[in-house]
Amino acid sequence: MSDSRVTEPRKRFVELLSLSSRITFSDLRRDLVGKKWQPGMNLATLYRIVDTFKAQGLIHETTIAGERLIFACQCADGRIDDAVTISFCENCGAIYDTHTRISAQLTLSQTYQQTKSCSACVIR
Ligand SMILES: [Zn+2]
Ligand SMILES: [Zn+2]
Repeated sequence: MSDSRVTEPRKRFVELLSLSSRITFSDLRRDLVGKKWQPGMNLATLYRIVDTFKAQGLIHETTIAGERLIFACQCADGRIDDAVTISFCENCGAIYDTHTRISAQLTLSQTYQQTKSCSACVIR
C-alpha cells in the first residue's frame, strides 16, 4: 500500500476538524465520504480514523441530541489515560473537556455533563 493512501484521508479529517470547534459524524461523512472530494473516502476508513484519533486521545466524542459530536482535545497536556469529562453548555453551546489524572488501576472513563452556563457566558 502506498503511503499516500494512508495519510491522505487522515489529512482531510484533520483539515475538516480544524475548520470548526466541533463537527458531527454525519457532517464528516457527508464531506469526507460524499462527493465533495474525489475520490471519496471509504466509510470504513472514516470509522477507522475516528477510532484511531480517539484511541490516541487527540479527539473526544460525545452524543448530543442523538448526534455523534466530535471535537479536538482542548487540553494541552491531556493524556490518554485520563478520566475525561465532556461539558456542554446549554446556553451558548460551547463544548469543552476536562482531564483528571486517574490511577493506573482504574479503567478509562469518560463522562458527559450538561451545564446551564459555562465560564464564557456565566448566568447569575
Ligand atoms: Zn481532552
Ligand atoms: Zn456557555
